Amino acid sequence: MEEYDIIIIGAGPAGLTAGIYAGRQNSKTLVIDKSSAGGLGLEVPMMQNYPGFESISGMELIQKMKAQSENYCEILENTVIDSIEKTEDGFHLKTKYSPLLMTEDDDGAKEFIAKSIILATGASHRHLNIPGEEEFLGRGVAYCATCDGMFFIGKDVLMGGGGNSAAAESLYLKNLGCNVKLVHRRDELRCEHHLQKALEENGIEVLWNSTIEEIKGEMMVNSVTLLRDGVEEDYKTDAVFVAIGDDPSNDLAKDLGVALDEGGYIITDKKQATNVKGVYSAGDITGGVKQWIVACGEGAVAAISAYEDLNL
Ligand code: NAP
Repeated sequence: MEEYDIIIIGAGPAGLTAGIYAGRQNSKTLVIDKSSAGGLGLEVPMMQNYPGFESISGMELIQKMKAQSENYCEILENTVIDSIEKTEDGFHLKTKYSPLLMTEDDDGAKEFIAKSIILATGASHRHLNIPGEEEFLGRGVAYCATCDGMFFIGKDVLMGGGGNSAAAESLYLKNLGCNVKLVHRRDELRCEHHLQKALEENGIEVLWNSTIEEIKGEMMVNSVTLLRDGVEEDYKTDAVFVAIGDDPSNDLAKDLGVALDEGGYIITDKKQATNVKGVYSAGDITGGVKQWIVACGEGAVAAISAYEDLNL
């Protein structure tokens, strides 16, 4: 059983930053992620508000953060936390490979002991929960423009949502050569003003007061039922991208008895400490302003607090 001072769960911007700060304090630190480092951050096509970079993709920034973190801590990817328990003087974790790496003979089972835990488990894509969404997943329904956009170059695409993600991903798809339209349920977008301007400048049409009620097709998506201003219509499209926000990935927090707010986000104090002694949290899982710079800041605070409280 391997022992660490601090184990960080989640290798997105918050977790990787916590890894840098914890490791630089000379605490023996491990970052564990259920898939590749980066989380939803990998999907951000382009950011123009991360200080120091006029424009950078999520993938490029994660690669830089991961390389920097590896100077100070270990990173274990594609590893799922099977169980996590509070013990008298810390935490006991059991892990296994993610389904991607698992074989019949080897599930990659390992055990770890940590003095402190930082939960940086982020969030997962919210779904529309409409007929056809699950059925056509990967056959015209997608949640990540940077991952799946290239399959729809030259084709008609509807993007559901009105926030920063939907706007940025629409611009990315347009730039790729997709014929993209935004479907928004209100008559006003939620995204930042400069993104609204960019949508206009790039000629991206917005279908206002509209919701996608059903996704239809045969082998692949070929249309949706659209409710526009209260009237249902059949609307031809080759793909539906969904970017309507995200839900907190709080299963491990629940297992540890960490207090959550009404939205399911982890409640922390100014030190990023939770109600459970030795458990800290950072990033999108804490709710509030979901921006990379905030996630990184919280990750730094969580790591410094964990180190200080351990009195190593
Ligand atoms: P968001 O800001 O929560 O916006 C979700 C959008 O989807 C809203 O326009 C909402 O409509 C719409 N929506 C929600 N549920 C819906 C449903 N069931 N049917 C139809 N439409 C629905 O989500 P997001 O754009 O994914 O962004 C998530 C967070 O990440 C935000 O805090 C955002 O600022 C942040 N983000 C940051 C960066 C960055 O750091 N550079 C980049 C992208 C996103 P209403 O407007 O009517 O509520």
